[in-house]
Amino acid sequence: MKYDINLPQEVNNIFSKLNKNGFDSHIVGGCVRDALLGLVPHDYDICTSASPDEVLKCFENNKTLTTGMKHGTITVFENDVPYEITSYRTEGLYSDNRHPDNVLFVRSIEEDLARRDFTINAMAYNPKEGLFDPFGGENDLKNKIIRCVGQPTQRFSEDALRIMRGLRFASVLGFEIDNLTDCAMRKCKNLLKKISSERIRTELLKLLCGKGCGNVLLRYSDILAVFIPEISPCIGFDQHNPHHCFDVWEHIVRSVQAAPQQPLVRFIMLLHDIEKPACFRMDDNGIGHFKGHGELGAATARNIMERMHFDKKSICTAETMIRLHDERPKDKIAVRRLIINAGIENFTLLLGIKRADAMAKHPNIQNSQLVFIKKIEDCFYEIMRDKECLYLNDLAVNGKDLIKLGFAGKKIGLVLNWLLDCVINEKLPNEKAALMQAASLHFNPDKKTS
Ligand code: ATP
Ligand code: MG
Repeated sequence: MKYDINLPQEVNNIFSKLNKNGFDSHIVGGCVRDALLGLVPHDYDICTSASPDEVLKCFENNKTLTTGMKHGTITVFENDVPYEITSYRTEGLYSDNRHPDNVLFVRSIEEDLARRDFTINAMAYNPKEGLFDPFGGENDLKNKIIRCVGQPTQRFSEDALRIMRGLRFASVLGFEIDNLTDCAMRKCKNLLKKISSERIRTELLKLLCGKGCGNVLLRYSDILAVFIPEISPCIGFDQHNPHHCFDVWEHIVRSVQAAPQQPLVRFIMLLHDIEKPACFRMDDNGIGHFKGHGELGAATARNIMERMHFDKKSICTAETMIRLHDERPKDKIAVRRLIINAGIENFTLLLGIKRADAMAKHPNIQNSQLVFIKKIEDCFYEIMRDKECLYLNDLAVNGKDLIKLGFAGKKIGLVLNWLLDCVINEKLPNEKAALMQAASLHFNPDKKTS
């Protein structure tokens, strides 16, 4: 099929300049794949038969950046928009399973495409020649297949990150993985241990946000377990609980799929029940319970996230959310406590997590759980609307007021916290007169009148 891909004017300008100087050029990789899928590419990678020096010469009147020159990439600004132009290249040996030992510039686009990871990413296009697709990428796109360019085991041995990229594309595009590619992924999975955790994390978070992540997580859990071995006990673990019709891992996967498509939320769902197997106890009626799995899971999540070099704030948020995900506040007082524990700014996140968790449970109880979560939400909005007192700062008295009553030193903090507790527990209204009176009655027997 002949494709006409609508290109930005800048890309056409770049093509013209290179062609005028006798060089061949194409858009390549992800942008061709996305355009063929009818998506708008988020950027356009351009490749050319010109060497990096020749590219620089062609664009001597443009602003350029040469930071990627060693790998053959020059960034050219056309109308102030940056475009990466990479010289056709092949790669040498990969003795470390991560990086090529050297790169070699070549003059043919076909050689360049042969170094790329998957057939759907190994297509090139320019308006003059149309689609150049020597590895059958268009067909694989049509059939929704992820397939390595070349011999899969060799390609994954060269660069094991490709295993994660393959799973990510399968998830994001909702594609299947070709059989030979699938077998090679499993065979080479342990090479992922050599890949930096940051690079794995980036791919994993994209994978988790894909529309097909449920299938990928269920089918390729063995690959995930290479870098998150903590998931292994969850796989196939029967919960022996009427609220659950899935084993722990399938429940986790379904909860990931049910959560909002935000990387951190989805990662939290991935870890939220990770310590269920360790906390399992069966009661006399044969029902399984998992007391403490939130608390223990929070600590394990911290370990995993530190190991994967997440930022501190994300780690803290995940830890708090996992610790609290199974809390079931029974009244407004308990909701106040939960808001204080979670932090106001995280409370809608917690509700989203609880909803995703509920949606991955037995269909018979999903509805009642969702109704319960809605009640918590309504209660939260009421508390926010009424600007209720949750913290010392919200209290109608402060330290100075207590000094006037004759309190001093550490006792001031003690009394303020006691008053806050009384207000949260609805024993006292948050009114200055009432609080002052209660403080002197309770803490200063000298002033007792009764
Ligand atoms: P997206 O940018 O949408 O995430 P992409 O396919 O453009 O997807 P990039 O990481 O931007 O991915 O890479 C651009 C192109 O470079 C890919 O389409 C692929 O052809 C090639 N490529 C990227 N990483 C690798 C790799 N590890 N091994 C082989 N080829 C790769
Ligand atoms: Mg890209």
